[in-house]
Amino acid sequence: MQASEFRAQPGTLYIVATPIGNLRDITLRALDILKTVDLVAAEDTRTTGGLLAAHGIAARLVACHEHNERTAAAELVARLQEGRSVALVSDAGTPGVSDPGAVVVRAARAAGIAVVPLPGPSAVATALSAAGLAEGHWLFHGFLPHKAGERRRVLETLAGLPQALVFYESPHRILDTVADLAAVLGGGRRLVIARELSKRFEQFHDCVLAEAVDWLKDDDNRQRGEFVLIVSGRPAAADDGMQEATRVLDILLEDLPASQAARLAARITGAKKNALYDLALKRGDLKTVTSDE
Ligand code: SAM
Repeated sequence: MQASEFRAQPGTLYIVATPIGNLRDITLRALDILKTVDLVAAEDTRTTGGLLAAHGIAARLVACHEHNERTAAAELVARLQEGRSVALVSDAGTPGVSDPGAVVVRAARAAGIAVVPLPGPSAVATALSAAGLAEGHWLFHGFLPHKAGERRRVLETLAGLPQALVFYESPHRILDTVADLAAVLGGGRRLVIARELSKRFEQFHDCVLAEAVDWLKDDDNRQRGEFVLIVSGRPAAADDGMQEATRVLDILLEDLPASQAARLAARITGAKKNALYDLALKRGDLKTVTSDE
């Protein structure tokens, strides 16, 4: 594999992933391409201008965002057909992942133009990499609808899936969305909140959905910034009894030590005492590892 510098090739469209917070999270190849392309098509030319300036790159920038993507696509394809090279970037992360990009890529492919993706940061992969997900499988949904009714309807369609569910959310809707996740999916599912990834106040919090709104409300700072939410999938049928046992255990753990809470929860629900005791110990661990800024 080539370790020396890359140069952009004529008539090629490069899809370039850029940092999601820390400006140094950019690959060497992305810098090579951004330095040598004829045009950089950016979701926000000011944001990308800042990134390029931070890396000492002077490039010709053109706007390509959700409101002009079709016209921009036609214009970019014309430039590519003339033999120009183009890098497409979004404000943060990987273009086409909850960001514009697909229209330009489709237009370029339809015109027989080479499309070369440059791998790099994306909030979904970054969050998953440190979430310690039990499920091997996950489903990326991205943003849920803004309106409560629509959001709940979409969640109902996802509720039966066994895969972990991954959502993007902004600070404006984080409380409402987390409340709806608990209401529609049930309070017993695990939630990992990944906030401000690669930034100064990066934070991971692992809890059950029933506890999440209170945790967010406990400190206003926890509702700030950008979020990835990872919710465990529908529990297997064999786990259904365990869900109720977990709920009872959590209530008892508020006032009792682990062994007593596990013994009583087992008597009340019929679930296995040892499994509940292990769970009670894990709950204690989770409380101690949660870090706050
Ligand atoms: N294209 C980007 C990617 O590859 O991840 C996503 C762009 S989307 C418009 C922006 C959303 O991604 C934010 O609202 C948030 O949900 C998530 N996101 C982006 N940067 C993040 C970060 N540093 N920490 C947590 N979530 C982030």
